[in-house]
Amino acid sequence: MATTQRDYYEVLGVARGADEGEIKRAFRGLARELHPDVSEAPDAQERFREVVEAYEVLSKSETRELYDRFGHAGLRGGGFTPTQFDLGSLTDLFAAFFGDDLFGVGGRAARSRGADLAVQVEIELVEAASGTKREVPFPVAVTCSTCSGSGAAPGTAPVTCGTCGGSGRLQHVSRSAFGEFVRTQACPACRGAGQQIEDPCPDCHGDGRTVEERTLEVEIPPGIHDGQQIRISGEGHAGGGGARAGDVYVQVHIKPDPRFVREGDDIFSTVDLTMTEAALGAVVSVPTLDGEHELEFPEGTQPGEIRVLRGRGMPVLQGFGRGDQRVLVNVAVPRRLNDEQRRLLQEFAGSTDDETYRVDEGFFDKLKSAFR
Ligand SMILES: [Zn+2]
Ligand SMILES: [Zn+2]
Repeated sequence: MATTQRDYYEVLGVARGADEGEIKRAFRGLARELHPDVSEAPDAQERFREVVEAYEVLSKSETRELYDRFGHAGLRGGGFTPTQFDLGSLTDLFAAFFGDDLFGVGGRAARSRGADLAVQVEIELVEAASGTKREVPFPVAVTCSTCSGSGAAPGTAPVTCGTCGGSGRLQHVSRSAFGEFVRTQACPACRGAGQQIEDPCPDCHGDGRTVEERTLEVEIPPGIHDGQQIRISGEGHAGGGGARAGDVYVQVHIKPDPRFVREGDDIFSTVDLTMTEAALGAVVSVPTLDGEHELEFPEGTQPGEIRVLRGRGMPVLQGFGRGDQRVLVNVAVPRRLNDEQRRLLQEFAGSTDDETYRVDEGFFDKLKSAFR
């Protein structure tokens, strides 16, 4: 998906020459402001993702150097893929970065949104043209039906954590000449959940989730491009403690079709005419995305001519109309002649003059208009 990406320095609001400390500070500031658990702004999640991606790149010297030299393109070439947006893993990232307490993550950690997952489907080019449906199977974590997600064996219930008294957090107070410092962190005994399971559910071993094979019917819209993803919201892994499930990203691959080359919404193909068909004119069937199509070639058709079939290309994704198909003419010259054929061709050659091969005026204009 070719969306224009903002400059990472601009995203973080730092100068290109900013040092590590400045980048870190800028990131911390923006992250506090935009964290989806904190911010009410409707675009906070999107901006937050942008900020995390920018920080991921600029905080590592290898990726930063690539980005400085080649921009976003350099990162794609270098195999950098931004972290799939997933609040679960972001929460971890934050815990690592700020300590567990920054956003009151403690007590929330066990209820984080489920992880996203990615599945791949492969379709034919003609299916990409018409749009299609696919049954896509994938394994997914679901809420355990035995314990309804609590993680506790049936008939038992999780008990309040004795270490933190159920708050999920622990406070460390230290005194100094400047006053009292209070540091909060997630309770290590219950990992921030505030509850502990004494008798774990036999089916999920206390996790509250089990893995299930699920099949989704995925609607693939006409005009989709190779590598594009379709997001199916809320069908990913179940969240902990009944939190919302993650999303499924269906990545669509289009098998190359030996008959066609796709360029954007246009389709290119070739047609082979024999020397005599080209010279005498012929009706030849050519493949299109909609099936075979009869094309009439007039007398004197030249190799390299391009026939434009308007509206026979790919449909415009989420738009109107279709691209064009351009058919390039190849002319096959005989490779082996018997004596009789050679004699006939020599006789033909003897009867030709300049007029036989004279170029029609406008031929080059016609050729150019095909590339318009
Ligand atoms: Zn269970
Ligand atoms: Zn605890």
